[in-house]
Amino acid sequence: MQTIHFSDLYGQYLTMKDEIDEAIQDVIRSAQFVKSKKVAEFEEKLGAYLGTNVIACGNGTDALQIAFMALGLKPGDEVITSPFTFVATVETAVLMGLKPVFIDVDPDTFNIDVSQIENAISAKTKAILPVHLFGQCANMEEILRLSEKYGLWVIEDACQALGTESVFSNGARQKTGTVGNVGCNSFFPSKNLGAFGDGGAVYANDEQLATVIRSIANHGMKAKYEYERIGVNSRLDSIQAAILEVKLKYLEKHLVARQKAAAYYDEHLAGIDGLKTPVPANYSTHTFHQYTLQADRRDDLQEFLNNKGIPTMVYYPKPLHLQEAYRFLDYRNGDFPVSEKMGKTVLSLPMHTELEMGQLEYIVRSVKEFYGFSLSRKAAKSNLS
Ligand SMILES: *Cc1c(COP(=O)(O)O)cnc(C)c1O
Repeated sequence: MQTIHFSDLYGQYLTMKDEIDEAIQDVIRSAQFVKSKKVAEFEEKLGAYLGTNVIACGNGTDALQIAFMALGLKPGDEVITSPFTFVATVETAVLMGLKPVFIDVDPDTFNIDVSQIENAISAKTKAILPVHLFGQCANMEEILRLSEKYGLWVIEDACQALGTESVFSNGARQKTGTVGNVGCNSFFPSKNLGAFGDGGAVYANDEQLATVIRSIANHGMKAKYEYERIGVNSRLDSIQAAILEVKLKYLEKHLVARQKAAAYYDEHLAGIDGLKTPVPANYSTHTFHQYTLQADRRDDLQEFLNNKGIPTMVYYPKPLHLQEAYRFLDYRNGDFPVSEKMGKTVLSLPMHTELEMGQLEYIVRSVKEFYGFSLSRKAAKSNLS
């Protein structure tokens, strides 16, 4: 059996090597490394796939900051989000002088518990910022309803959920990140669509807002050397755009590969005492950016798997309200019990597009071995006889 990788970016590259190498060479030959036609072409293609306006930028963190700037959020404005996420969501809000107001996550989906949002809305609340964690989106229908009721912006942190769809109660579907006012995405190498370096994108359905976003990502420029607002320098370079354009063609195939691996894990890890497999939500499809278990004796399981050559990751060990940098927000241990419990129980299994059946079999066999699954089954059988 091949070495098991947590994420196999090189193996995936080899399946597209000729096309990617050629695309990189084309950019080098053109010598248009920044702000080229290639970037516009990629934005166009991703926009067509998503059905929205796409503005490429430097990374997913920048995408969030640009979203706050484009919506005109001001110091002191409150943004409702969850503490069980990657730090960028909250870091950029704080950098902009905004106040993150946390809400706990749902114990089944890891996403913001929408039943608690309304209680957290104050006169200063300006936006709801759901993070679509691990490839499954938050309950956008309910978030839209609340945003309309209270006149709030909706900013989607869709960095882990490219290709996921929101499913509405009338059966309609819409790509994640295009449901709220602004969507943010990351092309960090391990994301659903990953570059060979940093990259990101901001989405907006509204044309005017899209124009503002484009201007902000480019120093607030209107026409050459005419600045209409304060902006930032955040761009996707042409080599990354060319790579992403090739990989976009295979995105659906890659998502199916992730879903197949997840389905195998689901089937074979179901019903183990002390282990909870990901719970599908009826308002979202799942693209399995991560396959994340909730496990009793998580640290022991991780070590056991590690000793068997199975790499795993803990996303995320410590929720943001307990991080030293965010102590000033004045939250305490116990404020968000579900997020705190997740920090102690989550474990993400190897998940990528190149997992082989033999590897999946070995991984589930090892997890079952840890929980004494086969032993207890044998014991149960001998009890019967
Ligand atoms: C990856 C990620 C980001 C940041 O993206 P970068 O491209 O690394 O800056 C933000 N939010 C979430 C939820 C992410 O997973």
